[in-house]
Amino acid sequence: MVNIPKTIRRHCPHCNSHQEMRVKEDTKGRASAMKKKHRKRQRKIEKGYGSFPYEDPSHRSRGRKNPTSEKKDLKLECKECGKAHKPRKPIRAAKFSIE
Ligand SMILES: [Zn+2]
Repeated sequence: MVNIPKTIRRHCPHCNSHQEMRVKEDTKGRASAMKKKHRKRQRKIEKGYGSFPYEDPSHRSRGRKNPTSEKKDLKLECKECGKAHKPRKPIRAAKFSIE
């Protein structure tokens, strides 16, 4: 369990100095079904390409266990200028909360 405080003091690239930041979780919007990468994947699934799509999931993971933790992106909103930015390194944790 990783607890992250609601406000932290980090460097703001817009103000170019350390400021108090509001912490939010950066969530992805719903992926569009008509995007090129989606259409490409769909084409591969329908036609098949090499050994894709994989039938056996253990073949894909090559015998390794799937990790239970996920990478989570944060969104830091500067209290001074109101602009938000994303830190370079995401957090890897199975459970995570902003308090
Ligand atoms: Zn700022």
